[in-house]
Amino acid sequence: MQYKVLAYYVFTEIKDPVAEVKRQKEILESLDGKARIYISEEGVNAQLSLPAVNTEAYITWLNEDPIYKEAEVKLHDWPEHAFAKLTVKVRKELVAVDRKIDLSKRGEYLSPQQWKEKLDHKDNETILIDVRNNYESDVGHFEGAILPDLETFRGFPEYAKHLAKTVDTKKTKVMMYCTGGIRCELYSALLKDEGFDTVYQLKGGVIQYGLKEGKEHWKGKLFVFDDRMVVPISPDNQEIISKCKFCGNESDTYYNCANMDCNELFLSCSACVEEKKGCCSDNCLSIGRVRAFVNREKPKPFRKLTKDEKLSISST
Ligand SMILES: [Zn+2]
Ligand SMILES: [Zn+2]
Repeated sequence: MQYKVLAYYVFTEIKDPVAEVKRQKEILESLDGKARIYISEEGVNAQLSLPAVNTEAYITWLNEDPIYKEAEVKLHDWPEHAFAKLTVKVRKELVAVDRKIDLSKRGEYLSPQQWKEKLDHKDNETILIDVRNNYESDVGHFEGAILPDLETFRGFPEYAKHLAKTVDTKKTKVMMYCTGGIRCELYSALLKDEGFDTVYQLKGGVIQYGLKEGKEHWKGKLFVFDDRMVVPISPDNQEIISKCKFCGNESDTYYNCANMDCNELFLSCSACVEEKKGCCSDNCLSIGRVRAFVNREKPKPFRKLTKDEKLSISST
């Protein structure tokens, strides 16, 4: 069966987030959807997968509701569900930055085409910033981008402060991008708060850029927060820029450390991860709770196991 992976967000007033959670759950259950959707009073951030045949029905449902009129739905094909469960939740913040951000101050949108044109003729006063976390930019990023070494979404506000001290905020023009665009909505407003006058954000993020413009100016692949983990941004994008942490051979395959107390994401080739039994280090392999490792060609992010899965592992 063919599936579609969908991603979209909207910033709009949601009067009753609990009711909206219920509505999303109902429609997605009826269409065999699996998802990770967060809803707050200020909007909706949605990533989901659906059987391809049900996708049109879901998009029609979105289009009929004024809440979603600004939603730009990005679509990809995938041979199976990209999410294990249907998770729709109320959240205080759509992006965890721990602060109130004035969205009216957000940066100017560039369409993928405008973004590409700007990169074709980038001047010395323009800086390109990848605002994603380090494990995301490690496997792919725009050529020449500054890669702040962020470990979580919460790290950006501090980085913005630091950046404002190191460059001339009046002269420096900023081009910023993230996976699907939602982080830039907030982070661009933060940069303007720090005194930057000219801030551009890539509308729809790298996902939309890959769909509309292909892989030009892009190096490597794209990290995504679902079971696919690392995907090409366009059909001809197969470049690998990252390395196995053990042997240094090229690899952009992520594993969660099989040591349950670590669970850290790491890049490995198939041979090394096999030898380490799924662990990120010899230390993790030798101490603590290590779950059984199955070497799959396309490993999935590790999730808490269901009771049944736990039973089946302990009985083998
Ligand atoms: Zn290796
Ligand atoms: Zn580990």
